[in-house]
Amino acid sequence: MLKESMLYLARQDAIRQLAQNNPIGQRVARRFVAGESLDLAIQVAHTLNRQRISVSLDHLGENTSDEREARAAADDYVAIVERIHAEGVEGNISVKLTALGLDISEQLCRDNLARVLRCAQQYGMFVRVDMEAADYTQRTVDMVVELHHTFENVGTVIQTALFRTPEDVERLLSERVRMRLVKGAYLEPPTIAYAHKADVDNAYLRLLPSLLERGVYPAIATHDERMINAAIGVAHERDIPRARFEFQMLYGIRRDLQERLATAGYNVRVYVPYGSQWYPYLTRRMAERPANLMFVLSNALRG
Ligand SMILES: Cc1cc2nc3c(=O)[nH]c(=O)nc-3n(C[C@H](O)[C@H](O)[C@H](O)COP(=O)(O)OP(=O)(O)OC[C@H]3O[C@@H](n4cnc5c(N)ncnc54)[C@H](O)[C@@H]3O)c2cc1C
Repeated sequence: MLKESMLYLARQDAIRQLAQNNPIGQRVARRFVAGESLDLAIQVAHTLNRQRISVSLDHLGENTSDEREARAAADDYVAIVERIHAEGVEGNISVKLTALGLDISEQLCRDNLARVLRCAQQYGMFVRVDMEAADYTQRTVDMVVELHHTFENVGTVIQTALFRTPEDVERLLSERVRMRLVKGAYLEPPTIAYAHKADVDNAYLRLLPSLLERGVYPAIATHDERMINAAIGVAHERDIPRARFEFQMLYGIRRDLQERLATAGYNVRVYVPYGSQWYPYLTRRMAERPANLMFVLSNALRG
């Protein structure tokens, strides 16, 4: 119920405006967001790199309905790629198709993404297309598969909450597209997605072996130690070297586990979001864990 309410709030524009302009909101966001500027995100990236942890930078923003804004988002990602390269950061980027104009036109979005991919390609840099709500799954998979024929440096994300996911995994495996495996952060109807967490977890465990064995450098993205231990077990049993996959976690969540895995010699990447449009991202993080809501409320009370 709380999860549903939080995910509903994530989509309310008026509340978003209010929260993002509020100093308490801004302070709370810093727990999960590197800061408002690229400079701050780069500082965080350097700190993580020193701990042998790589990064994926996300300039927060989604669901634009303005063509200029969508082009500006692509320009921005080009600048981020240039900066990552110039700074020698061990990292890549994560983008959302709705920030690049998917709600306006597929052609606009494809052109914008291609521009970002072309720039990243010259530096051998990978670009991850995040997976958004289920309305976008088909278009995201189709666009990534299509662009992957020209740009090998593009990959996407697979959500185990969705019933359709095993088929998407098979398609992406056959196209040799890199995948990040997640449970799924969006509220979906029970006609297309598992309603119970245990079923989402079991689907994650079922997909792990084929992804690790047949995937192209898969990303096991979770903070759930049961999933992580299962991945380590599968890799051990099937003799899959550590260099062939990576673990991913979100900035500010389970830092202890991030460091422990990196110290144990696993590849670890942290997803580092930054920018002023943090509201939908933050509410999704609160929906995942009610304790985060207590953190927000205690900050609000402190004023
Ligand atoms: C690198 C990365 C990229 C992602 N990209 C996408 C994407 O493109 N599309 C998408 O739909 N989803 C994405 N997600 C989110 C994902 O779908 C889950 O919603 C999120 O990871 C929580 O699930 P979990 O696997 O950590 O397991 P859970 O069972 O939810 O959590 C396991 C444990 O992790 C800790 N934890 C989990 N979430 C939080 C939190 N918010 N705050 C504090 N502690 C927490 C708690 O200790 C919890 O007990 C991404 C996640 C990661 C790590």
